[in-house]
Amino acid sequence: MGTEGIEDVMFPLRKRMPLDRRTILVGSLIIALIFSSFTLGLAILLSKSAHGNRSTANLARSGPTHEPKISVGPTTGPPTPPIVLPQSPLTPFPSLLPDQLALLQAKDRFFYHGNTGLPEIALTFDDGPNPPYTAQILAILERYHVKATFFCVGKQVQAYPGLVKQEYDSGYLVENHSWSHANLPFLSDASLLWQFSTTQNIIEHATGARPTYFRPPYGAFNAAVLTNANRFGLSTVLWNVDPRDWSRPGVNTIVARIIAQTVNGSIILMHDGGGDRSQTVAALPIVITWFLRHGYRFVTLEQLVADYHLDNNLQPSRKPHIPPGLQAWWRRKLQMIYNR
Ligand code: ZN
Repeated sequence: MGTEGIEDVMFPLRKRMPLDRRTILVGSLIIALIFSSFTLGLAILLSKSAHGNRSTANLARSGPTHEPKISVGPTTGPPTPPIVLPQSPLTPFPSLLPDQLALLQAKDRFFYHGNTGLPEIALTFDDGPNPPYTAQILAILERYHVKATFFCVGKQVQAYPGLVKQEYDSGYLVENHSWSHANLPFLSDASLLWQFSTTQNIIEHATGARPTYFRPPYGAFNAAVLTNANRFGLSTVLWNVDPRDWSRPGVNTIVARIIAQTVNGSIILMHDGGGDRSQTVAALPIVITWFLRHGYRFVTLEQLVADYHLDNNLQPSRKPHIPPGLQAWWRRKLQMIYNR
């Protein structure tokens, strides 16, 4: 009886227990559903707002002229690839040459050598394209798998766009060396602007890419030249190895001068344009073989700049020494600027 009574008393409890469990189960499921849908909603909201911020940032970087290319809306589908733009001008840009050089060098936008602690060399060929020498140089570079940069003259690009396309498609840089190889500091502002813009446009027309580097003909520059280079977002690149191959001193002399002047991070000036360059073509395989055998690697200017601040045992000074191979008149100019 006692136990029955107890069972009677417990029975209704036993009957209620399964109901309570079910209620608790269903209830917790509902709560879980509500909570998860809330979390999902919050996540979608957050991701939308993050996407919106990124789009705004892209818009701010690219400026209003690129607005139509930017997808702002959809959150589905593949992500929008980043827009690769040519270098933008530095603003504000100073008007005095020493201030310009200080700013440009601080931003790696004016240089004539790379990292002096790395066995990297940049081969640069000026004044082309120029048949048959440009194609011969390209064949040699490809045979040795060596990178190089071509500073092209605009009117030559107009005459031989196929050669420039071949340079670009083979992975070499095609850059601005003015339209007519003019001595730029002697030009009016309007002519200077024209030299820059027409060359930028003709190279872009030939290759599909706008140059980001500029080399003034004869290495001649002043404040107006650098102002215009900056206007087009161009970095100014000189050199610290000059074999004077354009004067056709003989193949052996070209090779000897290059080997004597080249150090880590050197930028070598040679010419595929401006006349008979058969000596340059003949010297090139000898030069390439010599440096490859001595552990150097050949890079484009882009790579040279990218590696400029890499750690090495011989940290280069931000105020580089004036190498002996430079043309005397702008060596003096740089010395004046550095020593002021
Ligand atoms: Zn030149």
